[in-house]
Amino acid sequence: MNILITGGAGYIGSHTARALLEQGHKVCVFDNLSRGHKEAVQRTVGLEQLTIASLHDTDRLTQVLLSEGIELVIHLAAFALVGESQTRPEMYFRNNVLGSQSLLSAMNQANVHKLIVSSTTAVYGTPRQMPITESFERAPVNQYGRTKLEMELSLEHAVSQSDLAVVALRYFNAAGAHPNGDLGEDHHPETHLIPITLQVALGQREQLEIFGDDYATPDGTCVRDYVHVCDLASAHICAMDVLSSGKVQYFNIGTGAGTSVSEVLDACRKVSGHPIPSVAGIRRSGDPDILYADNSKAVSELKWSPKYTSIEQIVETAWKWHSESPSGYRSG
Ligand code: UDP
Repeated sequence: MNILITGGAGYIGSHTARALLEQGHKVCVFDNLSRGHKEAVQRTVGLEQLTIASLHDTDRLTQVLLSEGIELVIHLAAFALVGESQTRPEMYFRNNVLGSQSLLSAMNQANVHKLIVSSTTAVYGTPRQMPITESFERAPVNQYGRTKLEMELSLEHAVSQSDLAVVALRYFNAAGAHPNGDLGEDHHPETHLIPITLQVALGQREQLEIFGDDYATPDGTCVRDYVHVCDLASAHICAMDVLSSGKVQYFNIGTGAGTSVSEVLDACRKVSGHPIPSVAGIRRSGDPDILYADNSKAVSELKWSPKYTSIEQIVETAWKWHSESPSGYRSG
């Protein structure tokens, strides 16, 4: 199939691009490189398949869809940091909501009817019960989650007006790196737990600050569902088989297991062989105690299952990437 990935130069996009290529698909990347890396595209589809342009440029999008004979779009281009979304809400609205609208217009003009999009656990807000199923109320508590909910609602409207087929994957915490060690997480600034913890092991930071150790969890630190980025990538491939005209189908993509910040830290210490000093700090605003997925819908309907089921396995791949490329893509 001919597939366009928006945001294909990013962390999840580059792993997805590689997984699709390995399945024999033709993959084009559309990315403005504001957060993604040219080098990641070079290492996957090659620079000749990269269009550097804004999602707001509907004409350019339409032209790429037509000229490349695109049959399916995987829409991953979005801003995804909760803290930043709170301080720059307009930027998030413009990119995540209006950018998605622009893509829908372009797809409509180019007669492309298949779409897989990234959504997030943040649309659920702070559910009172665990694990989270897809039928839980959507009640985001931050601007990032609100923009993704807004996108989901626009997709529901779009499918009611056309024969568009949509799968929205609600990712839990993307983690790890490609086992080859040549693709991984490279954010500036880095805010995510595993890369930050491993940067301490590499001597790039002094210590890990644990954002709160007084949560209502067994060890007092927040519990999340860390899902390997290659497992996220494979979920997109599974999703291709269930696309159905006139529907938006939602799937939680998580392992179904919760891991605390302290457990992540222990895994990082074990894998890196470094003591990794840590200090308990104050809570980060908007962090719920516990979030983990009920992934049974993805398992039964998408025929998807995560291959990386332990936090240590996930951290091993992240450690390979960070230790071999301590400056991220700039190391290469
Ligand atoms: N966290 C932490 N110290 C850090 C970064 C993150 O204690 O330097 C915690 C954070 O409060 C959350 C968990 O690690 O409970 C995962 O955070 P991350 O930013 O990786 O992902 P998020 O859950 O925000 O998408």
